[in-house]
Amino acid sequence: MRVKILGSAAGGAFPQWNCACTNCRALRAGTFQGKPRSQTQVAITEDGRSWFLLGASPDLRAQIESTPELHPRDGLRQSPIAGVVLANADLDHVLGLLLLRELQPLRVHATASVRRILREDNSMFGMLQRIPNQTAWTDFASPTPFPLCNAAGEDSGLRCRALSLGTHYPAYVATDRRSQLDPGEASLGFIIHSHRSDSPSRPRLAYMPAVPELDNALLQQLDSCDLLLFDGTFWSDDELIRIQGSGQTARQMGHIPVEDVLTKLAGIRRPRKIFLHINNTNPMLDEASPEHRQVRDAGWEIAEDGWQFDL
Ligand SMILES: [Zn+2]
Repeated sequence: MRVKILGSAAGGAFPQWNCACTNCRALRAGTFQGKPRSQTQVAITEDGRSWFLLGASPDLRAQIESTPELHPRDGLRQSPIAGVVLANADLDHVLGLLLLRELQPLRVHATASVRRILREDNSMFGMLQRIPNQTAWTDFASPTPFPLCNAAGEDSGLRCRALSLGTHYPAYVATDRRSQLDPGEASLGFIIHSHRSDSPSRPRLAYMPAVPELDNALLQQLDSCDLLLFDGTFWSDDELIRIQGSGQTARQMGHIPVEDVLTKLAGIRRPRKIFLHINNTNPMLDEASPEHRQVRDAGWEIAEDGWQFDL
């Protein structure tokens, strides 16, 4: 399995259009020791030809153009992108679906709750259903493993298992709809392996962009993986409140702060550990900061757009 990080920032990207925090200002001024980042987007493939997107970011058009593997190969209209797997219904995770219309066949794997929010309540997503055989939707439920398939139903050889991580639906979901939805289908993490891998250990990817809390069961799951892409949204719980003067804590927004993750995951030895979904306010983005040093000293890496891994 090949894993590509096309984008590594949280919603809003880095810099964020309306943000003048220390990081965003320094980046624009050219004095920042660190890289700009687009909104979190990961793509995976088993055979190098057929790719699956984990989420569909608002930056997807530019992310596809900067990734030659995802450019059309055969004929006038074609894409190596076979499907999308949705972890939640957040705008920064689903808006890119609208960029994938153009009558291109595609399969979207989602929980029934996320599918209903997008298809039944938001008519714009009807643009993905203009002709027969355009977008095929397949429901999945945690924790049953499911194969990632293309629009025609062909099995890619990739197996995905969803873990229910959070119970909060996005603010745009209406109250009456919210009451009809299963809270356990709101926010997922994925563990993915190649079914065809010859290796008996079957290397596994864990994709966890939004983790509100960590229990022992989840720790065990993470320690059985080889590559861990983990929620690096905020450094501290009160990060946004300190910068903006008001707002929600990281935990209220469904993210364990990085400074706590470093302690809680200190015992996890097997996987290569990488933070992604990093908010532009996070001090660890600054490579000259003590927070950056602390993360690196703890054996973690901080994802950059364009990184690639082979499992
Ligand atoms: Zn900022």
